[in-house]
Amino acid sequence: MRELKKAYLEITNVCNRSCTFCPGTRRPQGFLTPEDFRRLAGRLRPHTEYLYLHLMGEPLLHPQLEQILAVGEELGFRLMITTNGTLLPKRGELLCRSPAVQRVSISLHSFEGNEGGGDMAAYLDGCFSFARQAAGAGKRCALRLWNLDGAETQGANAQNGTILEHMERYFPRPWKEGWQGVTLAPGVYLEWGERFEWPDLEADELNAGRAFCRGLRDQVGVLWDGTVVPCCLDHEGDIPLGNLYDQSLEEILESPRAKAIYEGFSQGRAAEELCRKCGYARRFVSK
Ligand code: SF4
Repeated sequence: MRELKKAYLEITNVCNRSCTFCPGTRRPQGFLTPEDFRRLAGRLRPHTEYLYLHLMGEPLLHPQLEQILAVGEELGFRLMITTNGTLLPKRGELLCRSPAVQRVSISLHSFEGNEGGGDMAAYLDGCFSFARQAAGAGKRCALRLWNLDGAETQGANAQNGTILEHMERYFPRPWKEGWQGVTLAPGVYLEWGERFEWPDLEADELNAGRAFCRGLRDQVGVLWDGTVVPCCLDHEGDIPLGNLYDQSLEEILESPRAKAIYEGFSQGRAAEELCRKCGYARRFVSK
């Protein structure tokens, strides 16, 4: 039985934002029912304890989120949520009282990615109040600013200064710098990151030479229709490896296409076209 560090199970691919940095998806939109969530998550559970409830989509939009969290708890998962934060005032309390939810990551950079995205102060109040409440409930909460691009004082991420000032009102300095980020208070972290580029079949090849990635070694992704993909970046399902409704994960990981990806990376090469166009695969290769 292949052990994985984590799996991504997309409970919906619908989102209430339209961020400039997100490619979205052309796949049909949908929501997993709690019954189907049980079926798919149950097939992932022998392989991992850590389940992320997104691939694309905003998980807090799911109308049956409470039932889904309860099934996750029953199956013994540690659940990870990544959200744009807009619905935390409505649904944050639910996350705080679910024993299975371990970590909530809030993409604060989503605010700047939306033209006329609303009242920034109200948005930040919602995110930071939630972070305090979640930490009080024993959760870990990461406040993400994945928008660094070497031009922090220009363009969209000029708002980082305002965001940090607002953050300080909720989490007074001094903050503690660590190798993984900044600890603002026990259980609350600020995570910086480079602006992210999604892999795209229409883009030029980046990894014609050496490439390595932990897709299928540490993680798999499952789209809401059951399609298994090698990682959380395959937003269009360009590398469909099988369907978890019809097959076990073990069978899918042993398929010729999945084995070619795994063995290719073992030899330092990307077997799939999407992987040859993915900036992530370059991170592990010394330049
Ligand atoms: S190289 Fe990119 S697209 Fe390929 S498996 Fe890794 S993260 Fe996914």
